[in-house]
Amino acid sequence: MPDMQAAVTREKEGPFTIERVTLEDPRDNEVLVRIKGVGMCHTDLVVRDQYFPTPLPAVLGHEGAGVVEKVGKSVTKVAPGDHVVLSYASCGTCANCQRGLYGYCPDLYGRNFSGARPDGSSPCCGQKGERISSYFFAQSSFGEYALATERNVVKIAKDVPLEIMGPLGCGIQTGAGAVMNALKPGAGSSIAIFGAGSVGLAAIMAAKVVGCTTIIAVDLNDQRLALARDLGATHTLHGDAETVEAIQALTGGEGVQFSLECTGLPQVVRRAVDCLRLTGICGIIGVAPLGTEFKLDMNAVLFGRTVRGIIEGDSIPDIFIPQLVELWKQGRFPFDRLIRFYPLSEIEEAAHASERGEVLKAVLLPGQ
Ligand SMILES: [Zn+2]
Ligand SMILES: [Zn+2]
Repeated sequence: MPDMQAAVTREKEGPFTIERVTLEDPRDNEVLVRIKGVGMCHTDLVVRDQYFPTPLPAVLGHEGAGVVEKVGKSVTKVAPGDHVVLSYASCGTCANCQRGLYGYCPDLYGRNFSGARPDGSSPCCGQKGERISSYFFAQSSFGEYALATERNVVKIAKDVPLEIMGPLGCGIQTGAGAVMNALKPGAGSSIAIFGAGSVGLAAIMAAKVVGCTTIIAVDLNDQRLALARDLGATHTLHGDAETVEAIQALTGGEGVQFSLECTGLPQVVRRAVDCLRLTGICGIIGVAPLGTEFKLDMNAVLFGRTVRGIIEGDSIPDIFIPQLVELWKQGRFPFDRLIRFYPLSEIEEAAHASERGEVLKAVLLPGQ
């Protein structure tokens, strides 16, 4: 029963506070992981701010990577000492899970955001024995240990630096998978990516990997646009009311074959659809508060254009994460360039720097 240091979110929009908490030993299907590095994802911050009502207090964190410490009786996928990346949870038995569409499991919200196991229990409690929501994305990895399930741990090779690998479990696979698994642009095709944060930049790297020859990055931050160009964007645009015309001009007047919306802003969704050529496909991956609506010209969609949402890059983590690790090893997917490390004790500073746009992907190092 590990007693450990973790970052606890006690109130809406409140700080992450470092506290001592207790975690239960693994149940039959669970895996206890000693966390070596955990990325901070936009979703941690929107849950802290309660866009999604995970009950507080809670230990958040859902981009953990670490070493398996202990496994439950029925676990065969991993053993103590294995290196793992923790990804998102899904039920594994519904029709969509059986088709490999884990991101569209009807129980996705319950499994990732309820702050509890499927049976309603939380494995974590505070110093006074009070219940603390845990099991966030079946991990709650803002701490020295995380309790995950056999299903959402992904074994990776031991010859890669474990502390950088956590973001592959959510943000990086979301951007890269949207391109490689969902939109699937062919070599020589064109794509526009709206928003050059860590998710958008992962999408740009992936577009380069698959051979897109026109990769247009749109953002408001010139430093990010410069990095986008470095990572594979062939063109960069400062987003404004002229963006659609600018994209048309860059593509011989036709528009791009693919676009990806990573900002969660309704007016940007409109541009991401309007910049498509006829029959083009727009993927939506930006997160907005529940109830947010966007407007489109019906005729823009009528002419064969497709708009689709994409969760977690359509990733089957056990297949996709090792692929991204291999691309990284070959130097073709340098996502580590987005990372800045912080000790877990400086999680507040990491959150503020992320919100101010000064850091693309903060990775917290517990035990430091
Ligand atoms: Zn399912
Ligand atoms: Zn995430």
